[in-house]
Amino acid sequence: MYVRDTIAAISTPVGEGGIGIVRISGPSSLAIAHSIFKMKSDGGLKSHRFSYGEIVVPATGDVLDESMAVYMKAPNSYTREDVVEIQCHGGTLVVSKILSLVVGEGARLAEPGEFTKRAFLNGRIDLVQAEAIMDVIASKTDASLSLAQHQREGLLSKRIETVKEGILYALAYVEALVDFPEDDVDVAVDTDVLARVRPALDELDALISGFEEGRVIRDGVSVVIAGKPNVGKSSLLNTLLKEKRAIVTAVPGTTRDLIEEVVNINGLPVKLLDTAGIRDSEDQVEQEGVRLTLERIPRADLVLFVVDGSGAFTEEDAAILEAVGTKPMIAVVNKGDLPTVAVLPDSIHAVAVSISTATGSGIPELRKAIADAFMHGKAVDGREFVAVSKARHRDALLKSRFSLETFIGNLEAGFTMELLAIDLRDALAAVGEVTGETTADDVLDRIFSSFCIGK
Ligand code: GDP
Repeated sequence: MYVRDTIAAISTPVGEGGIGIVRISGPSSLAIAHSIFKMKSDGGLKSHRFSYGEIVVPATGDVLDESMAVYMKAPNSYTREDVVEIQCHGGTLVVSKILSLVVGEGARLAEPGEFTKRAFLNGRIDLVQAEAIMDVIASKTDASLSLAQHQREGLLSKRIETVKEGILYALAYVEALVDFPEDDVDVAVDTDVLARVRPALDELDALISGFEEGRVIRDGVSVVIAGKPNVGKSSLLNTLLKEKRAIVTAVPGTTRDLIEEVVNINGLPVKLLDTAGIRDSEDQVEQEGVRLTLERIPRADLVLFVVDGSGAFTEEDAAILEAVGTKPMIAVVNKGDLPTVAVLPDSIHAVAVSISTATGSGIPELRKAIADAFMHGKAVDGREFVAVSKARHRDALLKSRFSLETFIGNLEAGFTMELLAIDLRDALAAVGEVTGETTADDVLDRIFSSFCIGK
């Protein structure tokens, strides 16, 4: 477990804002709060009530700020410990001064994610839920937010729990039979055990096969807009960005010459990459941009190969097409408002969508084609979506599936109960790595240290 000391951190983002919050958790939270927070009314902080008062420097009696404080008595708090949250004016200096007072009164500065780690260690949430809290904070689209919220609420944990129950049922049987002579074991028992293990295996399969979509919704995808100069790549980027619902956030390009934006395409966070920033520059620079785009193709999840439908399909187009290779691709035939001249080669392995960035025609179809490329026609609708979205989870579930399949094979091959129990325990341990029961300490440390301070 952990040292049950009292930790504190600033829980609001760095910078100036309307309100700043210092959060304290641990056995001394209330005492520390009372030593610096002077209430306007008597009687001290009451659990789950907001109180109005002032932050006073204990050594001098100076008033530092006007403040509201809320005390959440254990176990009804985020960490299941006594928690006090002090709200003050959101200035960088005033918030950090209050944190210093709290530390001066005996709290220790919290590590990143330490509040959530305590919630996990105290059994309020499992590891899937703890990790989902970070996803809630990081979510950029409605779909990724509802996926994260479902995981935070425990819906994914519940599905994993049914897998665990199937394995445990089988394990109980097998362990009970360890001491019986092999010949006495009834065939019906095997059938019964298999009847419990197979649904667990099916659920594992379903969870594993949902990973790609879960990952895409959580992490987004990388899409490169490729095409020779003047086909309308920048116009396409701008069209996709211009629709208000589209803009999520701007991510600085990895190089000066590339424009990279995250847009919301039918619910998917899509990182769009274009060389638009260099389009009015010297030819040489344009060439450099094309080179950079081509370089990015291997790392992209999807390529939008833009051609000018009003002109002939040229060797330059063919060269880019060749560079795209076998990458998933959508052929975007632009300038559909003009008479069509371009003929795409028959060999092209892609859905073709005709658009005009000038009139906006075909853009909804293109958006749908992009989403379909990842969601296989399924709507990116987080409301119904309970899925595995982290590689760590998927890998552990794969391990569990492998052990369960081994178990079934070994059961059918008539292995001893001792050996069968090992397979089942392995399967169980792998599932437990997801929910946190059997996760190694260094893995836990790594997970929580990627959280923000104050969370
Ligand atoms: P890029 O070099 O591939 O990024 O191409 P741009 O987006 O800069 O567009 C090149 C030229 O084509 C510009 O003059 C645009 O106005 C024009 N253009 C882009 N899209 C369309 C379209 O759908 N229809 C027409 N008629 N012109 C377009």
